[in-house]
Amino acid sequence: MVIKGFIETSFVDWDGKICSVIFLPGCNFKCVFCHNHKLVFNYKDLPDISWNEIKKKLLHHKGWVDGVCISGGEPLMDPDLLSVIEEIRDLDLLVKLDTNGSFPDLLKNLFKKKLINYVAMDIKAPLDERYGRITQVKVDLSKIRESIKLILKSRIDYEFRTTMVPGYLGKDELVAIAKEIKGAKKFILQNFNPKDTLCDNLKDVQPYTDKEMDGFKRAIEKYVEFSKVR
Ligand code: SF4
Repeated sequence: MVIKGFIETSFVDWDGKICSVIFLPGCNFKCVFCHNHKLVFNYKDLPDISWNEIKKKLLHHKGWVDGVCISGGEPLMDPDLLSVIEEIRDLDLLVKLDTNGSFPDLLKNLFKKKLINYVAMDIKAPLDERYGRITQVKVDLSKIRESIKLILKSRIDYEFRTTMVPGYLGKDELVAIAKEIKGAKKFILQNFNPKDTLCDNLKDVQPYTDKEMDGFKRAIEKYVEFSKVR
Protein backbone atom coordinates (compact mmCIF):
# COMPACT_ATOMS: atom_id res chain seq x y z
CA MET A 1 0.00 0.00 0.00
CA VAL A 2 1.18 3.51 -0.78
CA ILE A 3 1.04 5.89 2.18
CA LYS A 4 2.53 9.33 1.68
CA GLY A 5 1.86 11.10 4.95
CA PHE A 6 1.48 10.24 8.63
CA ILE A 7 0.70 12.29 11.74
CA GLU A 8 1.31 10.33 14.92
CA THR A 9 -1.13 12.17 17.17
CA SER A 10 -3.77 14.72 16.36
CA PHE A 11 -6.31 16.37 18.65
CA VAL A 12 -8.10 18.22 15.85
CA ASP A 13 -8.96 15.63 13.20
CA TRP A 14 -11.65 13.73 15.11
CA ASP A 15 -13.82 15.58 17.64
CA GLY A 16 -13.52 14.02 21.08
CA LYS A 17 -10.84 11.55 20.03
CA ILE A 18 -7.08 11.45 19.83
CA CYS A 19 -6.12 9.96 16.51
CA SER A 20 -3.28 9.30 14.12
CA VAL A 21 -3.72 10.44 10.53
CA ILE A 22 -2.72 8.56 7.39
CA PHE A 23 -2.62 10.34 4.01
CA LEU A 24 -3.29 8.38 0.84
CA PRO A 25 -2.28 10.05 -2.44
CA GLY A 26 -4.35 11.13 -5.45
CA CYS A 27 -7.66 12.98 -5.86
CA ASN A 28 -10.27 13.47 -8.58
CA PHE A 29 -10.84 17.14 -7.63
CA LYS A 30 -8.55 20.15 -7.92
CA CYS A 31 -10.06 22.40 -5.27
CA VAL A 32 -8.83 25.97 -5.54
CA PHE A 33 -8.03 26.09 -1.81
CA CYS A 34 -6.44 22.62 -1.53
CA HIS A 35 -3.50 22.58 0.89
CA ASN A 36 -2.65 18.96 0.17
CA HIS A 37 -1.95 19.56 -3.49
CA LYS A 38 1.53 18.02 -3.32
CA LEU A 39 -0.12 14.84 -2.15
CA VAL A 40 -2.79 15.14 -4.81
CA PHE A 41 -0.75 16.02 -7.88
CA ASN A 42 2.97 15.50 -7.20
CA TYR A 43 2.85 12.56 -4.87
CA LYS A 44 5.31 10.51 -6.90
CA ASP A 45 8.02 12.91 -5.65
CA LEU A 46 7.08 12.22 -2.02
CA PRO A 47 8.70 9.27 -0.23
CA ASP A 48 6.52 6.28 0.67
CA ILE A 49 6.02 5.59 4.36
CA SER A 50 5.99 1.88 5.04
CA TRP A 51 3.01 0.32 6.80
CA ASN A 52 5.40 -1.49 9.16
CA GLU A 53 6.88 1.80 10.28
CA ILE A 54 3.38 3.22 10.88
CA LYS A 55 2.22 0.06 12.62
CA LYS A 56 5.17 0.28 15.04
CA LYS A 57 4.15 3.83 15.94
CA LEU A 58 0.48 2.93 16.28
CA LEU A 59 1.40 0.08 18.63
CA HIS A 60 3.63 2.44 20.59
CA HIS A 61 0.66 4.81 21.13
CA LYS A 62 -1.83 2.03 21.89
CA GLY A 63 -4.15 3.00 24.73
CA TRP A 64 -3.43 6.67 24.09
CA VAL A 65 -4.62 7.00 20.50
CA ASP A 66 -8.29 6.03 19.92
CA GLY A 67 -8.17 5.53 16.19
CA VAL A 68 -6.82 6.45 12.79
CA CYS A 69 -8.17 9.05 10.40
CA ILE A 70 -7.66 8.08 6.76
CA SER A 71 -7.33 11.22 4.71
CA GLY A 72 -5.95 12.30 1.37
CA GLY A 73 -6.30 13.13 -1.43
CA GLU A 74 -9.47 11.15 -1.84
CA PRO A 75 -9.01 7.85 0.04
CA LEU A 76 -11.93 6.12 -1.73
CA MET A 77 -9.95 6.24 -5.00
CA ASP A 78 -7.17 4.18 -3.48
CA PRO A 79 -7.17 0.48 -4.43
CA ASP A 80 -5.42 -0.28 -1.12
CA LEU A 81 -8.03 1.37 1.08
CA LEU A 82 -9.62 -1.89 2.25
CA SER A 83 -6.27 -3.38 3.26
CA VAL A 84 -5.36 -0.19 5.12
CA ILE A 85 -8.67 -0.32 7.02
CA GLU A 86 -8.28 -4.02 7.81
CA GLU A 87 -4.75 -3.47 9.12
CA ILE A 88 -5.98 -0.66 11.37
CA ARG A 89 -8.92 -2.68 12.66
CA ASP A 90 -6.60 -5.60 13.39
CA LEU A 91 -4.86 -3.29 15.83
CA ASP A 92 -8.22 -2.71 17.58
CA LEU A 93 -8.26 0.94 16.58
CA LEU A 94 -11.26 2.94 15.37
CA VAL A 95 -11.36 4.20 11.76
CA LYS A 96 -12.42 7.61 10.49
CA LEU A 97 -12.66 8.31 6.77
CA ASP A 98 -12.39 11.72 5.07
CA THR A 99 -14.06 11.89 1.67
CA ASN A 100 -15.20 14.34 -0.99
CA GLY A 101 -18.33 12.25 -1.53
CA SER A 102 -17.85 11.35 -5.18
CA PHE A 103 -17.83 7.56 -4.71
CA PRO A 104 -21.13 6.63 -3.02
CA ASP A 105 -21.00 2.97 -4.09
CA LEU A 106 -17.65 2.45 -2.38
CA LEU A 107 -18.86 4.31 0.67
CA LYS A 108 -21.98 2.14 0.78
CA ASN A 109 -19.82 -0.96 0.72
CA LEU A 110 -17.78 0.27 3.70
CA PHE A 111 -20.99 1.02 5.60
CA LYS A 112 -22.44 -2.37 4.73
CA LYS A 113 -19.34 -4.16 5.95
CA LYS A 114 -19.28 -1.97 9.08
CA LEU A 115 -15.65 -1.12 8.44
CA ILE A 116 -15.62 2.51 9.52
CA ASN A 117 -16.68 4.27 12.70
CA TYR A 118 -16.87 7.86 11.49
CA VAL A 119 -17.09 9.63 8.15
CA ALA A 120 -16.37 13.29 7.37
CA MET A 121 -17.67 14.44 4.00
CA ASP A 122 -16.71 17.75 2.39
CA ILE A 123 -19.41 19.67 0.58
CA LYS A 124 -17.58 22.17 -1.55
CA ALA A 125 -20.39 24.45 -2.74
CA PRO A 126 -24.13 24.51 -3.48
CA LEU A 127 -25.00 21.55 -5.67
CA ASP A 128 -25.17 23.40 -8.99
CA GLU A 129 -22.74 25.06 -11.41
CA ARG A 130 -20.96 26.66 -8.44
CA TYR A 131 -19.51 23.27 -7.44
CA GLY A 132 -17.14 23.20 -10.39
CA ARG A 133 -15.87 26.71 -9.63
CA ILE A 134 -14.29 25.30 -6.48
CA THR A 135 -13.31 21.81 -7.66
CA GLN A 136 -12.07 22.93 -11.12
CA VAL A 137 -13.33 19.66 -12.59
CA LYS A 138 -16.77 18.61 -13.74
CA VAL A 139 -18.41 16.83 -10.81
CA ASP A 140 -21.27 14.37 -11.10
CA LEU A 141 -23.51 16.06 -8.54
CA SER A 142 -25.87 13.09 -8.40
CA LYS A 143 -22.99 11.16 -6.76
CA ILE A 144 -22.54 13.91 -4.18
CA ARG A 145 -26.29 13.84 -3.45
CA GLU A 146 -26.20 10.05 -3.17
CA SER A 147 -23.34 10.17 -0.65
CA ILE A 148 -25.19 12.80 1.38
CA LYS A 149 -28.33 10.62 1.47
CA LEU A 150 -26.33 7.56 2.38
CA ILE A 151 -24.58 9.30 5.25
CA LEU A 152 -27.79 10.90 6.55
CA LYS A 153 -29.55 7.56 6.78
CA SER A 154 -26.54 5.58 8.01
CA ARG A 155 -26.10 4.62 11.64
CA ILE A 156 -22.49 5.71 11.48
CA ASP A 157 -21.33 8.86 13.22
CA TYR A 158 -20.56 11.62 10.75
CA GLU A 159 -19.97 15.24 9.94
CA PHE A 160 -20.36 17.37 6.83
CA ARG A 161 -17.78 20.10 6.30
CA THR A 162 -17.55 23.21 4.16
CA THR A 163 -14.55 25.50 3.73
CA MET A 164 -15.67 29.11 3.45
CA VAL A 165 -13.61 30.63 0.63
CA PRO A 166 -14.25 34.39 0.21
CA GLY A 167 -15.27 35.25 -3.35
CA TYR A 168 -16.67 31.70 -3.82
CA LEU A 169 -18.87 31.07 -0.81
CA GLY A 170 -20.87 33.48 1.32
CA LYS A 171 -24.06 33.29 3.40
CA ASP A 172 -26.41 32.47 0.48
CA GLU A 173 -24.20 29.63 -0.76
CA LEU A 174 -23.82 28.24 2.74
CA VAL A 175 -27.57 28.27 3.38
CA ALA A 176 -28.09 26.46 0.05
CA ILE A 177 -25.64 23.75 1.22
CA ALA A 178 -27.33 23.52 4.64
CA LYS A 179 -30.69 22.93 2.93
CA GLU A 180 -29.17 19.98 1.04
CA ILE A 181 -28.20 18.33 4.34
CA LYS A 182 -31.28 19.43 6.30
CA GLY A 183 -31.56 17.57 9.60
CA ALA A 184 -27.88 16.54 9.63
CA LYS A 185 -26.36 15.78 13.02
CA LYS A 186 -23.26 17.87 12.47
CA PHE A 187 -22.12 20.57 10.04
CA ILE A 188 -18.62 22.00 10.44
CA LEU A 189 -17.58 25.34 8.97
CA GLN A 190 -13.91 25.79 8.23
CA ASN A 191 -12.42 29.17 7.50
CA PHE A 192 -10.31 29.58 4.39
CA ASN A 193 -6.53 29.58 4.92
CA PRO A 194 -4.55 31.41 2.21
CA LYS A 195 -1.31 29.56 3.00
CA ASP A 196 -0.01 27.25 0.26
CA THR A 197 -3.24 26.89 -1.72
CA LEU A 198 -3.42 25.09 -5.07
CA CYS A 199 -4.43 28.33 -6.81
CA ASP A 200 -1.75 30.94 -6.33
CA ASN A 201 -4.19 33.78 -6.87
CA LEU A 202 -5.83 32.96 -3.51
CA LYS A 203 -2.71 33.76 -1.54
CA ASP A 204 -3.72 37.41 -1.10
CA VAL A 205 -7.34 36.65 -0.23
CA GLN A 206 -8.19 37.55 3.35
CA PRO A 207 -10.02 34.82 5.29
CA TYR A 208 -13.35 35.73 6.85
CA THR A 209 -13.20 37.34 10.29
CA ASP A 210 -14.30 35.39 13.38
CA LYS A 211 -17.38 37.59 13.52
CA GLU A 212 -18.29 36.74 9.91
CA MET A 213 -17.77 33.03 10.58
CA ASP A 214 -20.05 33.26 13.65
CA GLY A 215 -22.65 34.97 11.45
CA PHE A 216 -22.44 32.09 8.94
CA LYS A 217 -22.89 29.60 11.76
CA ARG A 218 -25.99 31.41 12.98
CA ALA A 219 -27.44 31.43 9.45
CA ILE A 220 -27.40 27.62 9.21
CA GLU A 221 -28.27 26.66 12.78
CA LYS A 222 -31.95 26.09 12.02
CA TYR A 223 -31.17 23.51 9.32
CA VAL A 224 -28.91 21.15 11.28
CA GLU A 225 -28.78 19.67 14.77
CA PHE A 226 -25.30 20.95 15.54
CA SER A 227 -22.86 23.25 13.82
CA LYS A 228 -19.56 24.80 14.72
CA VAL A 229 -16.67 26.79 13.31
CA ARG A 230 -13.47 24.80 13.32
S1 SF4 B 1 -11.07 17.04 -2.44
FE1 SF4 B 1 -9.63 17.53 -0.79
S2 SF4 B 1 -7.68 16.61 -1.42
FE2 SF4 B 1 -8.99 16.67 -3.24
S3 SF4 B 1 -8.41 18.57 -4.27
FE3 SF4 B 1 -10.17 19.01 -2.93
S4 SF4 B 1 -9.29 19.74 -0.98
FE4 SF4 B 1 -7.64 18.71 -2.17
